Amino acid sequence: MRKTSNLRPWAVWSTAALTALTISLSPIGTYAAHAATVEVKGTTGAVQTASTPARNTSIPAVPDSSKQSALPNVLVIGTGGTIAGQSEDATSFQNYKAGTLPIGEMVDALPDKQKIADVSTLQFGNSGSGSYSMADLYDLSQTVDKALALYDSVVVTTGTDTMEEIAYFLDMTVQSDKPVVITGSMRPWTVIGSDAQANLYNAIKLAGSGRTTSFGTVLMLNDTIQLARGVSKTNDYRTDTFETPMLGAVGYIDEENIRIYRAPARALKPEGTAKPVFDLSKITKADLAKVEIAISYQEAGGGAIEGFVSNGAQGIVTSGTGAGGISRAMGQARTKAIEEGVIFVTTTRTGSGSVYGGGNGIIAGDNLSPQQARVLLMLGLSFSDDFDTIKKWFETYGTPEV
Ligand code: ASP
Repeated sequence: MRKTSNLRPWAVWSTAALTALTISLSPIGTYAAHAATVEVKGTTGAVQTASTPARNTSIPAVPDSSKQSALPNVLVIGTGGTIAGQSEDATSFQNYKAGTLPIGEMVDALPDKQKIADVSTLQFGNSGSGSYSMADLYDLSQTVDKALALYDSVVVTTGTDTMEEIAYFLDMTVQSDKPVVITGSMRPWTVIGSDAQANLYNAIKLAGSGRTTSFGTVLMLNDTIQLARGVSKTNDYRTDTFETPMLGAVGYIDEENIRIYRAPARALKPEGTAKPVFDLSKITKADLAKVEIAISYQEAGGGAIEGFVSNGAQGIVTSGTGAGGISRAMGQARTKAIEEGVIFVTTTRTGSGSVYGGGNGIIAGDNLSPQQARVLLMLGLSFSDDFDTIKKWFETYGTPEV
């Protein structure tokens, strides 16, 4: 693996098989049924397949009409998820196939979008969030950056299950300062009372407003704007599922009122100086490191860590009890793995709070969730094999000192 240590000064910035009905999209609220066979039942316990479908990374040219209009040019990149879900019928809130409806048709069906932006679309993929590999996210991030060279802002639609990981990956890698807004929904597009249309509309509105320029990637669901770092899906069904423990949302959208109440430290840096160090154009997908997560619990064994190491993990995040504690057996397995060169990050399984300290071969994960710490450790190990450099990145990104 190619390593590029100390690429830049690190003190950069702180942040359903079912036979079902096909429901036509437009106009919203009009459901015309056509027989269709779809796979996968609902979302409960769904296991994503290991197939690697092609990803479309071709950025559409900005239409001439959009160039001439005064409205912001927004590209919506669709990746699937519940927001693109097609339900068995208009009241099948949980029996649906995520990642089915084309993003172009979804955007076409949105009313009044001509009031807020000139919108183009790109179908990057169409599946549940969990079916995307980290290599896919590498492509997604590069696609977002390429799109931002042409468009004023980008909206990415994804499933909500791993949205916090996708959002943080983009947050840590997209080089453009222009707004990137992620959205999705908890109810499929085709049911009554869906949050899908409103979330997509408001995400386009927020992106077009430019209000989150230099914020990195933000989430917009349930009228609420959240920074990528720290955000987490906290409930498997409720529409207000996303929360940022301890810190809260950064703003809200109430029709024409877009209120931003706080900003990430990176937004306060001089223009052009807040780029993430993880510039993916400097590495290849093959450079992406293998990093896993091991959770501790009463009398947890050391087998998970041993297994990850023998499976080639270069880094492991421990999801510890309380302030990061792990069992004796896990501790012994960790010590042995460190001797073999594996780098660890210690985090808490409590869902909020900070983990401090660290030590030989162990980096404190601060207030990062295990899954977001894994994204950062993966990026760190993809760009450097130097423990101190990676530790500095953990101490720097999003912390108050920056
Ligand atoms: N299983 C879905 C996904 O993550 C859930 C959702 O979209 O909310 O793609």
